[in-house]
Amino acid sequence: MSKNYGMDAGNEAMSTSDFSSRLRPKAGDRVRFHFLTDGNDPWLVATRFHRVGDGMSARNIVCLNALTFGDEQCQICDTGDTTRRKMFGVWVLVEYILHPQDNPDDEGENWEQKTLKYKGDDGQEKTRTVFMEEFASAEGPGEAKLLHIPAGRQGVWWNQFHKAFMESLDLRKHFYELYRVGSGRDDTDWTLTTLKEDELDKAILERADIQALTNVEDVFRAGLSQMSTNNSPLGTDSVDGEEEPEAMPTPANPTPEAAESAADLI
Ligand SMILES: [Zn+2]
Repeated sequence: MSKNYGMDAGNEAMSTSDFSSRLRPKAGDRVRFHFLTDGNDPWLVATRFHRVGDGMSARNIVCLNALTFGDEQCQICDTGDTTRRKMFGVWVLVEYILHPQDNPDDEGENWEQKTLKYKGDDGQEKTRTVFMEEFASAEGPGEAKLLHIPAGRQGVWWNQFHKAFMESLDLRKHFYELYRVGSGRDDTDWTLTTLKEDELDKAILERADIQALTNVEDVFRAGLSQMSTNNSPLGTDSVDGEEEPEAMPTPANPTPEAAESAADLI
């Protein structure tokens, strides 16, 4: 049994809990879900993000300047890095995911095999075998997940979400599918489809796991904590007599702790 104390285990626990609440569909996955946001509350935030670091350690950091409409300074903008892209985060209740393949985890349960009907490129009805992974929390069916994706070129992905909202001015009124094609930064495409009218059960909003959800803004800000000094002592004041400031982590040179898995990039 691996130890459950100390920094390494703690670090693992922290990253695992963060990881599990993020929705990370893979190529070919069809996520079937209800929105938890109604489209007009703090459970949906669209803003701009800086891309910081390289390769595996690259990650998206919210631009505080954009998030607060200029009320708060952005440390990354201040370094002269003004490259930003539009992204959005939204809380959804995932009911199940249809995967193109069965559970890759040998230790895990097999997913139930289903037949998916869909309209092919030629307009004809086609069928395909898919594997259904169901989600539930301790509180009931469905699991809250944060979807955090780019708005896309010319807002092509964001626009689908906006259009869905305009259908009823309340995203909780329908049941949706989000389909991912591709797996990389350049070949990924997202398609949001309204499957049917099916209002989110109001009782779900009273569940402890849903009541405990963090606002999207706070999730975004949490990503900043590793980048900023947060008024932490510099160790260079008159208290300890130091004169030269120590090198602080900068966005261009993030601490190793700031690194997150490459799966976060899309
Ligand atoms: Zn910025």
